[in-house]
This record gives sequence, C-alpha cells and structure tokens, in this order.
Amino acid sequence: MLPRALAARGHEIGNHAIFHPCLRNVPQGGRDWVRPEYALESYTVPQMVDELQAANTTLLALDGETVRTLGYNCGDTTAGGHSYVDAARPLFLAARIGEDRIAADVRALDPMLVPSWMVQNVSGDEMIAFVKKAVGPGASPSSCSTASVAATASTSPARPTNSSSPGSLRTGRRSGRTRSSG
Ligand SMILES: [Zn+2]
Repeated sequence: MLPRALAARGHEIGNHAIFHPCLRNVPQGGRDWVRPEYALESYTVPQMVDELQAANTTLLALDGETVRTLGYNCGDTTAGGHSYVDAARPLFLAARIGEDRIAADVRALDPMLVPSWMVQNVSGDEMIAFVKKAVGPGASPSSCSTASVAATASTSPARPTNSSSPGSLRTGRRSGRTRSSG
C-alpha cells in the first residue's frame, strides 16, 4: 500500500532516510548489499542530517504530519565514525534503535535511543506475548506499542484515527524495513 493511503488509514509514517545508509563494515561478515556510496562509514554527520531532513520534508508532503519519528537504518547511529543522534534530535520526537530488548526503566530512557524489537517472521501470538512482557513493571511503552501496533495490524488493518501524538512515544512503525537487517 502506498504511504499516502497508509497515512489516510491512520498509520504513522516514520522517517527511515532516503537512501537507507547503513554501516557496511560490521561484524558477522559485513553488509555487502550496502552500496559503497551509501555506507555510513563514508557519510558525514551533516550529510546524514540533511538526508533525514529531506525525508521529513517528503513525508510531510505525503501525510501532512510535522511531528516525526525515526527508525535508524540498520539501527546504526554513526556517520563517518561520529554519532549523529544529537544532531538529528531537533528533527524528531523519538527514534528507535534495534537491540531487541525491553527498556528496564522508561523514565531513564533517551527518546532518541528507544530499544525496539525487529519483527520478522513472527506470529501474532509471539507479538502478543511480547506486548504482555513489555507492559510489565518499568517496561518501555514504546516496545509495547511497537508490538501492539504490529499485532493489531495483522488482525485489523484499519485504524479509525489519523491523529499525531506528539505527547506519546509512537516509534514502532517499521517504515521502509524492506531489507533483512533493517
Ligand atoms: Zn531499514
């Protein structure tokens, strides 16, 4: 489904950059599918922020939303060897990294470093189980919403509202996650 149609049905469209830059040289054999010109090792922090800003502008034209969340490409947070987390902070309400864990204390959580679960080839029951685990004491509501939205989407694709929620951490949409390593 096209992003504009998804947004019209109430789905949040997250920023996932334009060219999906990721680190190419990583443990476990690297990522050969990352084209050298889009390897984060050769990006600069300003270049990455410019790309994210351009993606925000594009998404604004699609869904009219001015509050945006980010899914770090491949969960990578550096460009040219330097963190771009703080440079990107003014552009986003929150951003998710990978790590497949539930935050121990949401009050101590940096909203630009929200852990998330990479949902791939899992059943609805597994997602529901993750939600139940995530809503335990001190757990991260973002992890909860990530899984709950996915679980809801699997059974009921339409959501009735299209409201932006700047006061909540809605970071769970897997926009653009079409490649195996996110
Ligand atoms: Zn991705």
